[in-house]
Amino acid sequence: MSRLLIIGCGGVAQVAIAKCCQNSDVFTEICIASRTKSKCDDVANKLKDTTKTKITTAQIDAEDVPALTALIKEYKPDAVLNVALPYQDLTIMDACLAAGVHYIDTANYEPEDTDDPEWRKIYDKRCKEAGFSAYFDYSWQWAYQDKFKEAGLTALLGTGFDPGVTSVFAAYAKKHYFDTIDTIDILDCNGGDHGYAFATNFNPEINLREVSAPGSYWEDGHWVEIPAMSIKREYNFDQVGMKDMYLLHHEEIEALAKNMPEVKRIRFFMTFGQSYLDHMRCLEDVGMLSTVPIKFQGQDIVPIQFLKALLPDPATLGPRTKGKTNIGCIFTGKKDGKERKIYIYNVCDHEECYKEVGSQAISYTTGVPAMIGSMMVVSGLWKEPGVFTTDEFDPDPYMEALNKWGLPWVVEENPILVD
Ligand code: NDP
Repeated sequence: MSRLLIIGCGGVAQVAIAKCCQNSDVFTEICIASRTKSKCDDVANKLKDTTKTKITTAQIDAEDVPALTALIKEYKPDAVLNVALPYQDLTIMDACLAAGVHYIDTANYEPEDTDDPEWRKIYDKRCKEAGFSAYFDYSWQWAYQDKFKEAGLTALLGTGFDPGVTSVFAAYAKKHYFDTIDTIDILDCNGGDHGYAFATNFNPEINLREVSAPGSYWEDGHWVEIPAMSIKREYNFDQVGMKDMYLLHHEEIEALAKNMPEVKRIRFFMTFGQSYLDHMRCLEDVGMLSTVPIKFQGQDIVPIQFLKALLPDPATLGPRTKGKTNIGCIFTGKKDGKERKIYIYNVCDHEECYKEVGSQAISYTTGVPAMIGSMMVVSGLWKEPGVFTTDEFDPDPYMEALNKWGLPWVVEENPILVD
């Protein structure tokens, strides 16, 4: 019996909302609040006759802390699920603290305007200290640790698939399969095809910024940074086949390096086709990925936001996307003095996801764990004062919930390793 305030109504949010509505015993009431209220109303109208969950909607600018605090105080949810954009993470955390409510999200904070001189100073200092230069990182949200602890509130960060499920896989491997883990390779494969020459599977601005940033990985206690897309491997993914994949910086590496200091090397690889990379390089070369506003016919235009307006909305890719995703982690280490290697992964079918909730598998594999993470917090299974990532709690109830709510996983012994 709980009440969840869900912020955002895009591709990921729509799956999280549909899943909460399937799980009415836990989520008896939800409020969908976003910048464009008509989208929330459309989703609520579509679902209302299919669920026992009571759905209400609200208009909110999540960057307006007083307005959001007032909405939270009025609705009185047990927790707030942030499935808007990473730009809003800190303002939503502030409002949760002001209203005394738990906080959950799927992606770590990054500033929207990376050319703001004040922000640039903090960023340059952080790059020097941290050793990597991606715009997104946990330092901003980990800085809320004491505030959440003192308030007796939980902030659960990054409960999507990656980050999210991949870190739960790491906690599960550590609990059940290893005495010590030596290496973790996180492999994110999308074998889906939407038929467009170029489109991103989740918010284009966030996706393109992530992919065009320098790559980095954790090795022997420090970061190794490499130029974007400069480490390429091939892997034969179950039910998808052979794919090229590239090493990226990814936020769960940061959390795993902090919370599992014995792990010697942690890397993240994502698959990309040549056409995607050619388009991205070209857009980058002509300045279309820039966040710096330019004057065009008397108007300020942010190139990457203009590009977002031109590209297909990821929420509309569902009916066109065919194929499967395969996302998981390969672990090596030791158990009872012997070498061991395992691969834990989930395979998800784009068309099956569309049949079930009207979305493609990228939104599905993020929205389902967003619902599960919220369930862990509101049911009290994962509720500790402070700021946490998903590797820091007992993985067993989360792993059970993945099987129950549409993301079944397998454990393969002795997989092929990535060199
Ligand atoms: P979308 O762009 O489809 O949706 C974002 C939603 O947030 C929209 O409804 C938008 O409103 C709303 N929004 C934006 N700004 C504000 C604001 N200031 N106030 C209120 N609402 C706002 O994004 P996705 O659904 O693709 O992605 C959602 C999140 O999921 C992102 O943070 C993304 O990084 C994360 N993600 C995480 C993954 C993981 O595995 N961990 C994988 C994929 C995504 P409007 O409709 O008006 O535009």
